[in-house]
Amino acid sequence: MSKSSRPKIFAITNQKGGVGKTTTTINLGTALAAIGRKVLLVDLDPQGNASTGLGISRSDRELSSYDLLTGAATISQVLKETIVPGMHIIPATVDLSSVDVELYGQNDRNRRLETALESTAIDSYDYVLIDCPPSLNLLTINALIAATGVLVPLQCEFFALEGLSQLLQTIREVRESANAQLRLQGIVLTMYDARNNLSGQVAQDVRDNLGDLVFKTIIPRNVRLSEAPSHAIPALIYDHRSSGSIAYQKLAAEVLRRAKDEVAA
Ligand code: ATP
Ligand code: MG
Repeated sequence: MSKSSRPKIFAITNQKGGVGKTTTTINLGTALAAIGRKVLLVDLDPQGNASTGLGISRSDRELSSYDLLTGAATISQVLKETIVPGMHIIPATVDLSSVDVELYGQNDRNRRLETALESTAIDSYDYVLIDCPPSLNLLTINALIAATGVLVPLQCEFFALEGLSQLLQTIREVRESANAQLRLQGIVLTMYDARNNLSGQVAQDVRDNLGDLVFKTIIPRNVRLSEAPSHAIPALIYDHRSSGSIAYQKLAAEVLRRAKDEVAA
């Protein structure tokens, strides 16, 4: 497998809550690991849902992404193995919610994650996926500045496009002011319900508005995807034949194609 020396770093972000950011981070990461890519997840949400969904108990988070951002610990100190071979995670705790206050007045506060990820400790990974909080706050800005690409999960529901223009504007501003390499990798339609006309209309509307920016793969609404976190495993391990798992495997193949990373034969 060919690998450039630096991993691709993707922020999974949308300031709207509950649209499938964490589900996408966990299952896209697992799908990439399943086809041989080395993956590092960064949980950058004080809710710590990605960490919980991968079975990292609260007591096993002595060091977390908070310590990375405040400079109290290095990458090698904060990362943990997961149940998925080839996939590691930097867990999050609720401490992250005070990072704005902690870093107040520090000139480099927007670049803390970027600086931390400059470490050669991440060169062995192919992909770093950052699970962002539902807010355009300091944490999300850190993710956008550290990232090479952005994936935006968009729920197939009536207000899907609400807030998207603000997010796209923020991405443009970060590209112009702080991170020229940042690319919008694509928008992922999530929680698509084939029995619901509205879902289909929203998906069409989003495609009409955003064209090729939207991934062809649509993530269906699938109960396995929502059950898996309570078992502390990715849906791809919980039930790899479920429609949700199959969709995330297709999404992974599409992400690789867009990233010009050939799928292993
Ligand atoms: P937050 O903004 O709070 O971080 P989020 O954008 O990360 O939320 P998720 O936590 O991934 O969203 O998903 C929200 C809820 O919807 C969760 O209970 C999750 O299990 C469920 N869910 C996500 N995607 C699907 C899907 N395709 N089908 C069914 N349930 C889903
Ligand atoms: Mg989340």
